[in-house]
Amino acid sequence: MKISEILKKKATISFEVFPPKNKEGDISSIYYTIEELSKLNPDFISVTYGAGGSTKGKTVEIASTIKNQYNIEAVTHLTCISSTKEEIIDICQQLKANHIENILSLRGDYPQDGLQHELSFHYAKELNEFISSHFPDDFCLSGACYPEVHQEASCLEDDLQALKAKVDAGAEYLITQIFFDNHYYYRLVKEARKRGITVPIIAGIMPVTHSKSLLKTAKLCGCSIPYELSTMIESYYHYPQAMKEIGINYATHQIIDLITNGVDGIHIYTMNKPEIAKAIFESIPTVLKELNHE
Ligand code: FAD
Repeated sequence: MKISEILKKKATISFEVFPPKNKEGDISSIYYTIEELSKLNPDFISVTYGAGGSTKGKTVEIASTIKNQYNIEAVTHLTCISSTKEEIIDICQQLKANHIENILSLRGDYPQDGLQHELSFHYAKELNEFISSHFPDDFCLSGACYPEVHQEASCLEDDLQALKAKVDAGAEYLITQIFFDNHYYYRLVKEARKRGITVPIIAGIMPVTHSKSLLKTAKLCGCSIPYELSTMIESYYHYPQAMKEIGINYATHQIIDLITNGVDGIHIYTMNKPEIAKAIFESIPTVLKELNHE
């Protein structure tokens, strides 16, 4: 089923997983993660696509297992900056063959060692146009958006104009970059609506349970850390168990506030740790039902 069809009826709750990066190709750990996440009955699970290339091959395989063995809708992330048109056609054909109908269409980050070939695609918008023209009606396309503005954009206005173009090119819903201050999400939704972006905007929430990785992730994603959270990190920096509790509780608080304010959907960046998602679900089962989710 296309995610856009689900979103017409209800707000969604979903998870993101990533293919394991270890060299031996140990894929069994991800299947344990999916098994555990499936017990929480999500509307969909998305699978990231490595811009660097190393884990690209596993994305379709993992998404196919989610869809065909667990009967959960799978969303495949697909980046285009390092891809040729032939590669995109090949992946879309593999997705079709595996009955996967949902693509999170992304540009991807520029590889650190530079690009090895002339670009076939410059922006996610072009990937939307390309897939829509080669595979009309086969896929529900979605896109990324940035509550605190994408790092390469000069200002919010430019980023929103690019976002509008990406939606006009076929993105039927959006998933946000992580944020730790919900006000940035509310600002994005308000400003997007003013500019005629009417598609659902799903909030991406990352329960960061380790102080070092929180600081690293925030830097990488260009998202700010509110004073309240930074004080907690300073106080409990050397207490891993306390940081875990803080990460789960902070994300849970964000989710309660978002649901209270009528969010279109919650997408949890699980970091392949199903116990974290489970802890959130167990602490607010009644609030989550507000998303029409049982
Ligand atoms: P775009 O929408 O193309 O935008 C990129 C930049 O260009 C923005 O600054 C935008 O304002 C600007 N821009 C867009 N169009 C134009 C235009 N026509 N003219 C001028 N400027 C323009 N990365 C991965 O490698 N793999 C993943 O699986 C992955 N999953 C992600 C999931 C989510 C929910 C999010 C939020 C990000 C994800 N990323 C992933 C990271 C993403 O690839 C990077 O953030 C990347 O830098 C931008 O991708 P985009 O699709 O948003 O790009």
